[in-house]
Amino acid sequence: MTEITDHLADTRARVAKALARAGRSGEDVLLLAVSKHQPAAAIREAFAAGQRHFAENYVAEALEKMALLEDLPIEWHFIGALQSNKTRPVAERFAWVHTVDREKLVRRLSAQRPRFAPPLNVLIQVNQAGEPQKAGVAEERVGALAELIEAEPRLRFKGLMSIPPAQPAASGVYFSRLRDLKNRLQERGIEVPMLSMGMTADFEIAIENGSNCVRIGTGIFGPRPA
Ligand SMILES: *Cc1c(COP(=O)(O)O)cnc(C)c1O
Repeated sequence: MTEITDHLADTRARVAKALARAGRSGEDVLLLAVSKHQPAAAIREAFAAGQRHFAENYVAEALEKMALLEDLPIEWHFIGALQSNKTRPVAERFAWVHTVDREKLVRRLSAQRPRFAPPLNVLIQVNQAGEPQKAGVAEERVGALAELIEAEPRLRFKGLMSIPPAQPAASGVYFSRLRDLKNRLQERGIEVPMLSMGMTADFEIAIENGSNCVRIGTGIFGPRPA
């Protein structure tokens, strides 16, 4: 077994154990391999170990690797900060985007999603702690943005994403708040199938608080090359 194969197996086992602890055995958690700054060869290795969903943060870097990996049926997720002048390649080349936080992005992604492609799967990034250096919309504005996305035929509203402040011990508070927000939206008639929360340092806490999509980078690939 290569190191990546080994890490993947270990991560999947930890996901299953966290699900069991949460009384959710048998449910699915989508495991995203976050491959930013990792070479195409590392992605190929994870793919050979059965991994199909990969997540990238930088458009130019992602396009380079997609070109090298065209032979593989990878499902690509965009999880980076999204500038409105970079929406076109995201709309054209990715299946998912987790970082939509404003109306302008909704309009552009919808207009730029190719007609022949299935709708783009969209999650709203929520800035739960009001951190100015992070993207994301405030909790009270999520409902209106979700309704805008739902009204776009080229987009499919899939859920909520959050990157809580970097103190894994405190992540549980934010994760459970995101789950509460999901429940409030559902009461309002907005379906929220996915909660994208949890990274290498805190994915088990996230799953115990209702996450069904975890984004793991270093836990699968090891440290990111500089
Ligand atoms: C880099 C990144 C991750 C993965 O972080 P790790 O700590 O390496 O697991 C997850 N989500 C987002 C949005 C990221 O930018």
